[in-house]
Amino acid sequence: MIILVLSDIHANIEALEAVLAHAGPFDRLWFLGDAVGYGPDPNACVERLIELDPEVWLAGNHDYAALGKLDLESFNPEARQAAEWTGDQLSPACRAQLDSVEPLVRLAEQDVTLVHASPRRPIWEYILDAGTAFENFEHFSTALCFFGHTHVPAIYEEAVDGVLRTRVDLDVPHALADAEGSRWLINPGGVGQPRDGDPRASYLRLDLERRQITFHRVAYAIATTQRKILAAGLPARLAARLDYGW
Ligand code: ZN
Repeated sequence: MIILVLSDIHANIEALEAVLAHAGPFDRLWFLGDAVGYGPDPNACVERLIELDPEVWLAGNHDYAALGKLDLESFNPEARQAAEWTGDQLSPACRAQLDSVEPLVRLAEQDVTLVHASPRRPIWEYILDAGTAFENFEHFSTALCFFGHTHVPAIYEEAVDGVLRTRVDLDVPHALADAEGSRWLINPGGVGQPRDGDPRASYLRLDLERRQITFHRVAYAIATTQRKILAAGLPARLAARLDYGW
C-alpha cells in the first residue's frame, strides 16, 4: 500500500497540483495540516483535498488562525495579515471542513501517530533539532510518527539502545525495518512553502508493506503563485520567499 504524506500546503495550488502529478497513483493520503495561510488559493486547496478524501487530515496553526481559533498576537505581522485575509476568503464549506479536524491522530492498526507540530505540543512546537526530537519520543508510543510545521524534511530515529540518529541523506529510500524496536519521527517537508533552502515542493511516499519511505522534490510554477500573492494584496515577502525556499 502506497501512502502519500503531505504537509503545509499553505494555499499554494500550483505546488499541490505539481506534487499530485509527480506522485501518480497512490492508495491513501495523510495530510499533516496547514492547508491554508500565506498562499493565495485557500479555497482551491481545501476543495482539492476534499476531492482527494485523505484518510488523515490534520489541523495546523495557520488553519486555526484563519478560523479565529488562535490568538493572532502570536503570529508575525505578515502571517497575521495572511491569516486575516484567508479568514475573509474561506467559503462556508471550506471553513466547516477546516473546523472539523484535529492536530493529532493516532492510527493504532498501522502503529502510526500523525501530528501537525510535535507530539508534545501538537499545534506549536517546532522540531528542528535532535534535542527537541529526542524529548518528543517520550510523548508518543507508536513506532512511527509523522509531523509537519517546520517545512523541513527530516528523519530522527531512536534506536532500541536509546541512541538517537538523524539521517541527513534524504535522496535515497529509507528502510524503517532495519533495526527491530527502532522508532521514528519523520517530516515530509512542506508542499507550499519549503524552508530548507530548496524552493521545490517537498513530500514523501510511504510503502507500508515494505516499511520504506522515499522523499521527493518537485519543481512548480513559482512565478504564477507569486503573481497571485501580489494580486491578492498579500505581503510581497510571502511571494519573494518562495524563490529561495525559505
Ligand atoms: Zn505551516
